[in-house]
Amino acid sequence: MLSPRISWSHPRRGTENRSGGCLCGGVRFEVTGSPLWVAYCHCASCRRHTASPVSCYAGFEPSRVRFLTATPATCKLSPGVARSFCNRCGTPLTYESKRFPGEIHFFTGTFDEAEQLEPNRHVFWHDRQRGFEVHDPLSRYGRNSSRHGARSRSTGCSLYAREIRLEAFWRRPR
Ligand SMILES: [Zn+2]
Ligand SMILES: [Zn+2]
Repeated sequence: MLSPRISWSHPRRGTENRSGGCLCGGVRFEVTGSPLWVAYCHCASCRRHTASPVSCYAGFEPSRVRFLTATPATCKLSPGVARSFCNRCGTPLTYESKRFPGEIHFFTGTFDEAEQLEPNRHVFWHDRQRGFEVHDPLSRYGRNSSRHGARSRSTGCSLYAREIRLEAFWRRPR
């Protein structure tokens, strides 16, 4: 069942520092301060990009992010959207979109202490992989998920449409 209201503030705001990186260590980064939000994303694009049933992201302000080694490679499959990854080991690292200029979304699994980034919602719940069961008490957001964990309440319908188009692209016979 989808939750009717969204509480956008993350409960753990503070001033901590975090570090992380890819599997091979070729890309390392540091982030200052707490995340804007932490969320599971069930969208079809993230599922394909990570080859996993669900992704988990933490959103940070770009000014608080510093890459200590090589900057990651990026792939741009949708207008205004960039997904970054290590071009040596392939680890997916971040998601950025022109629609959300004040945010960079990091996969929580890339952090050295990933368990400290505790998700507080599921987004794109309507798009989840069938048969993948989730029994936690967190809120679920569907077509109104305007991003991986938005603070605004815009409907996000165009983003949803983009995800559907991308899914159709992958399903096209070739
Ligand atoms: Zn790597
Ligand atoms: Zn997603």
